[in-house]
Amino acid sequence: MSRKNKFFNKRTERIAIITAVFLVFLLAVAVLLERRIEYKRLQMAEEEAKAIAESQAQAAAAAISEVEPEEIPDEITSWEVSFDTSWMNAENAVITSGKAVLWKAKPSISNGLTVCINAGHGTAGGESVRTLCHPDGTQKVTGGTTSEGSSTAYAVSSGTELADGTSEAQATLSAARTVKELLLENGYNVLMIRDEDDVQLDNIARTLIANHYADAHISIHYDSTDWDKGVFFMSVPSSAEYRSMEPVASHWEQHNALGRAVVSAIEKEGFTLFEGGEMEMDLTQTSYSEIPSIDLEIGDTKSDHSDTAQSSIAEGILNGLNNFFMIGVSDSGVESSVS
Ligand SMILES: [Zn+2]
Repeated sequence: MSRKNKFFNKRTERIAIITAVFLVFLLAVAVLLERRIEYKRLQMAEEEAKAIAESQAQAAAAAISEVEPEEIPDEITSWEVSFDTSWMNAENAVITSGKAVLWKAKPSISNGLTVCINAGHGTAGGESVRTLCHPDGTQKVTGGTTSEGSSTAYAVSSGTELADGTSEAQATLSAARTVKELLLENGYNVLMIRDEDDVQLDNIARTLIANHYADAHISIHYDSTDWDKGVFFMSVPSSAEYRSMEPVASHWEQHNALGRAVVSAIEKEGFTLFEGGEMEMDLTQTSYSEIPSIDLEIGDTKSDHSDTAQSSIAEGILNGLNNFFMIGVSDSGVESSVS
């Protein structure tokens, strides 16, 4: 081997070593770079996951605050309610297939009280069956549509006819609807026993539904006389025997107190009261009522049953209920918000 060759061999060897060292260095740099990139990538993924979780939490919170007002919309709602055969005295009712309608006032103005407005009559076939006047089967102590001494009465009588040919059932339905609107506007819930021309619910079924869904029960009627004699309610007869029979014994004072509150408020609307506004009558309604309950006669066949007259009656009923339930009366007993 020549010197020259030796020299070249040494040189090649050195270049090879330097190249190898350089390659190792490059590799190391590459590995380090990749680790760094991987670390960055993981960090970014972590941050992204955190951001997604945060936005999901925000969305969930927003969803909750959006759902809440939707669950309780501030509007009048209504649904049908049925007769329940498990109620006390339910076996005494014979016409029970109809539905009453429960109207709920706007939540923002609701006073939590439910008033049953029972448009008298309007049950086809109501005179073809009879029901027990009293839960215990005893005889009536006064005479009216059903004579004294009877133990049964029409399940629902067909009612009278007003002087202009309007049936009592039609006139009481229009009055009931007017009262319903006014009570709802003033925060009362309203149980409409009859919301249409006909409801297949007899007087016992109507009363038991009111007992279970309402805080007071007002049935609306026009009396069969023909001289516009005035407004009155049917008060509980002052018969010791009748007033000791349940549920009358526990509730008759409430019935009379409600009746007096309502007729005196109606009188303030400019109506005449007939004989002080009350007439003693043994009725199926009061015989089965477990809440303050009256039959209200808002006139007779010759009385004005125009929208104007019925609106004034409705005002009287509203004011009477407010007085009875002490709505708008502060603790000191001074009226604060009801005019
Ligand atoms: Zn009637």
